[in-house]
Amino acid sequence: MNDTMTFQTQEQYQFIETILFENLGYNPEVLDFQFFYGGNFNLAVKVKVKEGDFFIKWNHGDHDGMFESEAKSLKVLGDTHVMSIPKVVNYGKIVDKHYLMMEFLTAAFKQNNYWSDFGQKLAQLHLHTAPQFGLDYNNYIGALPQSNEWMDNGVSFWIEKRLKVQAGLALYERRITQQLYDRILAFCEQLPTLIPNEKPALIHGDLWSGNVMTDSSGLVALVDPACYYGLREAELAFTTMFGGFDTNFYEAYHEIYPIENGFGDRIPIYNLYPLMVHVNLFGGGYLDAVEKILKKFE
Ligand code: ADP
Repeated sequence: MNDTMTFQTQEQYQFIETILFENLGYNPEVLDFQFFYGGNFNLAVKVKVKEGDFFIKWNHGDHDGMFESEAKSLKVLGDTHVMSIPKVVNYGKIVDKHYLMMEFLTAAFKQNNYWSDFGQKLAQLHLHTAPQFGLDYNNYIGALPQSNEWMDNGVSFWIEKRLKVQAGLALYERRITQQLYDRILAFCEQLPTLIPNEKPALIHGDLWSGNVMTDSSGLVALVDPACYYGLREAELAFTTMFGGFDTNFYEAYHEIYPIENGFGDRIPIYNLYPLMVHVNLFGGGYLDAVEKILKKFE
């Protein structure tokens, strides 16, 4: 370990001790301390103290509100009591760093029915509905803000608050051409005839395999939500984007909350949103996929 790393680690250690002091009310003895790398720009640790194991993540500077909205989203999902969601201890800011402290999920060996149980539970989550599409606070998808302003129509919500926002940002940041932007707008005109306008469904909002975990009883637990009442097919489509979901998951889901025929053809449509998010977060490598989907419908 070089000097810089030692210094950084020491500084981070003191930061974690401050968080523990502020939230537990005294300076606990840290029994174990383990760094996690995984997400975007956040740093994270598992801290073991007498009271239990905690997961603390943090970032520097200008992400005001990000952990507050994540804490709220974890509570929204947790309050449904459908599946394991880590309990939030607190969030806050110490000097220039924002943090979120929650229960650490200790994974047990996966049960045999892990995927079918997960499918059933996601269907049950999606059966939670609301009078409109949106949520009573805004949140983030990765590092990008996501507006949840209520709307009556789910397809319009997806167009106006999701796809067009990311396309507009990509144009503004010159990640896409005006021509591609216009093609996305023209595609939006067709959408009401292409995707079903179902009732609002409570969705996790960022359901890729990196946010799917196992709890202490060997069943599913979800982390890092960007939830809102939206189109459940958009969530299901996203689960196919990076793979990792077993067929038992989809079968069990379908038994509880059947999916309309032709869903396979709609998957690429819904995935335009996460693809545009990826264009904005990680660059143009995802543009070929966007072009390919648009071409199919032109
Ligand atoms: P980011 O917001 O930076 O994407 P995540 O919340 O996705 O960070 O966490 C990164 C990784 O840490 C996850 O993929 C998961 O493996 C692990 N993780 C997240 N929350 C917990 C938790 N409460 N308990 C145990 N591990 C967790």
